Amino acid sequence: MATVAELRCLLCARSFAPETVRYTCPDCGPAGTLDVLYDYDHLRHSLHRDTLATSREYSMWRYRDLLPLDSSAPVPPLRVGFTPLYDAPRLAQAMGTAAAWVKDDGQNPTASLKDRASALIVARAGQQGIDIVTTASTGNAAAALAGVAASVGMRTLIFVPASAPEAKIAQLLVYGATVLLVEGTYDQAFDLCLNISEAEGWYCRNTGVNPYTSEGKKTVAFEIAEQMDWNPPDVIVVSVGDGNIIASVYKGFYDLHQLGWIERIPRLIGVQSTGSAPLVDAWQRGTSAADMQPVDAHSIADSIVAGLPRDRTRALRAVRDSNGAFVAVPDEAILTAIPQFARLTGVFAEPAAAAALAGAQLAREQGFIQPTDRVLILSTGSGLKDIARARQSIAETGIRVQPSLDSVRSALKLNIR
Ligand SMILES: *Cc1c(COP(=O)(O)O)cnc(C)c1O
Ligand SMILES: [Zn+2]
Repeated sequence: MATVAELRCLLCARSFAPETVRYTCPDCGPAGTLDVLYDYDHLRHSLHRDTLATSREYSMWRYRDLLPLDSSAPVPPLRVGFTPLYDAPRLAQAMGTAAAWVKDDGQNPTASLKDRASALIVARAGQQGIDIVTTASTGNAAAALAGVAASVGMRTLIFVPASAPEAKIAQLLVYGATVLLVEGTYDQAFDLCLNISEAEGWYCRNTGVNPYTSEGKKTVAFEIAEQMDWNPPDVIVVSVGDGNIIASVYKGFYDLHQLGWIERIPRLIGVQSTGSAPLVDAWQRGTSAADMQPVDAHSIADSIVAGLPRDRTRALRAVRDSNGAFVAVPDEAILTAIPQFARLTGVFAEPAAAAALAGAQLAREQGFIQPTDRVLILSTGSGLKDIARARQSIAETGIRVQPSLDSVRSALKLNIR
């Protein structure tokens, strides 16, 4: 267990004792997302990266000493994290880079990286004696919360706009979540979830509001560093909606850098869809997060649609401080990237995850990625999440044959013997 030293607001730089604030900065309101910080001097002396080599815990709890959880607190039984990291030489060749890897976070129990955040939130709820967890989301965050909560028999309340697509809600209902269909916008559902949770003492997982989601997700950076023998890649490409994942990847490497376990933080390249690219815009124009205005956002990659990204301040910092970049890719490029990614690496990614490959190719063309760079693509969610878009991404169909050898040979243009 790591004792949280302070929660620090990125907007006003004020520090709070962890037990005094549950969600965002009391002075800055909802935009004041808090960073969870530790006593790094103390940790540097008490922890050593080499002891991990003997650990037989193959999940995110491998890094429990760097997570904000009491040592006695139970953790959910589902195996979250320690997802595979694959060397992908054909991908490197296709992108024109010195090396390439894929980290497949679609391999988590509910099939996305969001499980890392939900597992920590559910564990922290349990530690505080709270038995209802809530969130406002139609997507992977809600599925992750519903799944992880189900594994410990905790109740989940999910707030979604009444207009949310039926198919997205199915996974939640299967896990036994109570789904509240709010007659209003997504923003209204989001605020309602937070307000009722505060009033009733439930634990709200809302992205950008609960500072601890990032602490769960940062474990993906720990794994990348350890799986690469503490010599992380030069560049990591991450798809971005609300910006919580890219901010968490940064936070993970920040922690490791503070501890002296890695020498540098990789450059982070954030990828958005051109139909939902407020962070790309802000980064290009040098706009501060506080001055960003909501845009009308849409994309086939539903997991990265965000008109005013909830974790915009920390997402911009992640890219600026790591000397990275933001790029926007059109939906057609995202669709093309689905089969490309699958064929080059064997990893089947949902549209939002395949967007990272499309973005890596664009970043390479634009010079943000150089031929000498060693590049990792973070695959954030499984292709099985969205079969309809996968179908749309391929031109091929099956080949109809008769049940005879000749028919197969003829269909495959083999010599008829
Ligand atoms: C949530 C999600 C993202 C984007 O994460 P943000 O924190 O919203 O930027 C990307 N890919 C997948 C599969 C996701 O579920
Ligand atoms: Zn503040």
